[in-house]
Amino acid sequence: MDLSLLRNKEANIVTPEFDKLYQTVFSDFFNRDPELWPIYKDPGFAAHNQFRQLHLNPEDRLSAYPDGQTLQERLLNDSHTPKHLTRPNGQPDDVLAFAAAMSKDWENPSSVENVITMPCDPSIYGAMMGTLANPNLVYSEYAGLAEHLEKNVVRQIANIVGYDPEQSTGLFTQGGTFCNLYGYLLGIRKSLPDAKVNGLGYAQDYRILNSQAGHYSNMTNLSLLGVDLSGKTIRIKVTQSHDIDLHDLELSLRACFSVNTAVPCIMLTMGTTDTFAIDRVKPVHDLRDRLCEEYGVSVKPHIHVDAAVGWSMMFFIDYDFKRNPLAINDSTLKGIESVVEKMRELKYADSFTVDFQKWGYVPYTSSLVMIKNKQDMKALENDPSNFSYFEDDLQGSTHLQSTIECSRGASGLFGAYSALKFMGLEGYQAVLAHCLQNANYMRHRLLLDPSVKTVSLKIRDQVLTSVFMTEI
Ligand SMILES: *Cc1c(COP(=O)(O)O)cnc(C)c1O
Repeated sequence: MDLSLLRNKEANIVTPEFDKLYQTVFSDFFNRDPELWPIYKDPGFAAHNQFRQLHLNPEDRLSAYPDGQTLQERLLNDSHTPKHLTRPNGQPDDVLAFAAAMSKDWENPSSVENVITMPCDPSIYGAMMGTLANPNLVYSEYAGLAEHLEKNVVRQIANIVGYDPEQSTGLFTQGGTFCNLYGYLLGIRKSLPDAKVNGLGYAQDYRILNSQAGHYSNMTNLSLLGVDLSGKTIRIKVTQSHDIDLHDLELSLRACFSVNTAVPCIMLTMGTTDTFAIDRVKPVHDLRDRLCEEYGVSVKPHIHVDAAVGWSMMFFIDYDFKRNPLAINDSTLKGIESVVEKMRELKYADSFTVDFQKWGYVPYTSSLVMIKNKQDMKALENDPSNFSYFEDDLQGSTHLQSTIECSRGASGLFGAYSALKFMGLEGYQAVLAHCLQNANYMRHRLLLDPSVKTVSLKIRDQVLTSVFMTEI
């Protein structure tokens, strides 16, 4: 990080041009404005939005809510389904509205939860449209043209990162964890095809490689897949900046290949959850190819990139950093440029995780696994006789036989499509740059404050940096 820029006041201002764009983006897409987004005129939604706009502290909300105590008692103690029907009267159910009002408020200005954002208006609108239509993405007959909306979003993301939109594919699934599960499974099904019937380790010994800095789903998924975590998983060391240590990766790959041990998958991370470390993909891709050639390994390890948090920085891949049309301040522009240089390597991954529900401003659940080569889905195909109640002739044209799930809901897809459509690259760039400018401004103020000290702690090889206020 460039400390001289962070120290410089001018480099950390919000320019008037940027502010103007940001205000437009905020009022159009984050304001819960019923004139722009008429769904909010529904009495229940309107009351909900009004209550949230009070921006109360979490501990003050219950007492501020009309009849809050009584509603809470009912919520906690009612256990029986009503015997009789309730006639609708256009008003929301009181307990339903109460539970919504008392749920975690991502819109509160003091809500600075790690990697979770408030969903934008177009994504809420889109997700509701998906809920209303209720297609099931399991299979084309149950999805109708919604299946093509999924393909549409997949092509958009492919074009942004530089995948061939004709060759690549992808699918919405149940969270970033499942996207990573697909990554591992693709590797296992390609490298160890017998495993589908006989289980892991039947025909050939294997090791799965991931990074010590990976998200916990990098490990829980392996346990779920029946991988021996201590015996068959190699956790690659990380560098001082928490990205994967290429030297350690090379040693491990050589150790495996030299004794004919398969490496089904290498799991990388772009944007670790706490430290935003970004693994380099191209050097890993090149290393893998070079060693496969050297050792005569015919099925290359599948490289999956967990970009659950970091993916949205891809919206800057084609940003004109010279002209800087958004007038992002210097400090943040430099930071974005250096991250984007690494994001450009995402196209070297065989598959990657996109969590619209994280830094993508779309409601839960909205996660997309992108796959560079659609042929890879073949490796996931299960025995067709399992699918006898679906019509044969449609089976080949969908992911039906290759998905982990059966039913796949479409509200996340509709929300993601709508967010992309309305915000466009420009809207996303504005909200992302706004976050980063704020973070840098905070660093700037902390750096200049003589009463603040930075302390680094090393715990189990991880460097943790904390800021201490010594005098206030
Ligand atoms: C949050 C996160 C995940 C898991 O995603 P879910 O959508 O919560 O399942 C995976 N990887 C990283 C780096 C994450 O931050």
